[in-house]
Amino acid sequence: MSHQPAFEAYPEMNAGEYYPLRMPHSAVSSLERLRIRIFGAIKAGTDTLHFSGATDIYLFKCRDCGQYNCDYLHGFFPNQRLDCRACEEKEKREGN
Ligand SMILES: [Zn+2]
Repeated sequence: MSHQPAFEAYPEMNAGEYYPLRMPHSAVSSLERLRIRIFGAIKAGTDTLHFSGATDIYLFKCRDCGQYNCDYLHGFFPNQRLDCRACEEKEKREGN
């Protein structure tokens, strides 16, 4: 049985959407949740639409708020990170 990664449920982001992309819990399968618990983040797909080159997109669960997100790696090795949409918005609201 082949499993469709959660990101494939969102092949095209709506106009005006941007990374990190909030992923509803219902879009993340129990297998993906398990793999995320083990590996921290899993490759969810490759985005060729919103970048000049093919860019790997990762699915992960925020350690601070528990929200699932899809994001690309920011920064440069070894200081790369994945951002959480909910925490990013919270920081903006609080003016940090
Ligand atoms: Zn968060």
